[in-house]
Amino acid sequence: MSPSLLDVPSVREYLCRQLLCRVPTPHKAVALTFDDGPHPSHTPWLLDMLAAKDIKATFFVVGRRVRRFRDLVGRAQAEGHEIGNHTDHHLPLSPLPAGLIARELNVCGRLVEGVTGHRPRFMRPPMGWFNDKVLRISRELGYEPVIGTIHPQDSRQPGVPTIMRRLHRRLEPGAIIILHDGGWRIRASRQQTLRAVDLLTDELLAQGFAFPTLSGLVDDAAAGKADDESV
Ligand SMILES: [Zn+2]
Repeated sequence: MSPSLLDVPSVREYLCRQLLCRVPTPHKAVALTFDDGPHPSHTPWLLDMLAAKDIKATFFVVGRRVRRFRDLVGRAQAEGHEIGNHTDHHLPLSPLPAGLIARELNVCGRLVEGVTGHRPRFMRPPMGWFNDKVLRISRELGYEPVIGTIHPQDSRQPGVPTIMRRLHRRLEPGAIIILHDGGWRIRASRQQTLRAVDLLTDELLAQGFAFPTLSGLVDDAAAGKADDESV
């Protein structure tokens, strides 16, 4: 099993200086994020589960899937979840020329806007691949680039106990958890992910954790900081 970029401390430190990896907050709150959807069966299952537990998540959707399953994006938005931009085709952006990077972001952003009425605030580079050019263009287009704190590589299906162990290893207030409800292949199984999310949310809810959207996590932390400074 190859490590995730976030598993190597020196690399993680570098990443966190370049783009959003975690949100410093004293509150017991974490952001669940799901990439590569929407997916016709995994996403509705997840939305049902999140609704039953009254918790929010952020979905980094891919344009090519939004075209096919736009109703699921509408449902997620209507149920209070946040939609992020994960580009149109889920290609590594770093090798692409500026025009194509912008196109990948703009097409996905417009598709989301067509459903939700507004453009996503955050973008996550596919496969975590980025360089200075990708970050500059993303920011110029109005997107805040984000990676996350914990990437348990759930899409490789390492088994639910392994996913849980990886999640626990770096779980902390302000963590941004990277999981996958979709995949490049529509038939990709996400049963392990769904099971792990069910277990993790039960456990953290029992510990008093909140699950805001990514914007909620970032804005609450910023508001808390502003309060501290005004005292
Ligand atoms: Zn992805």
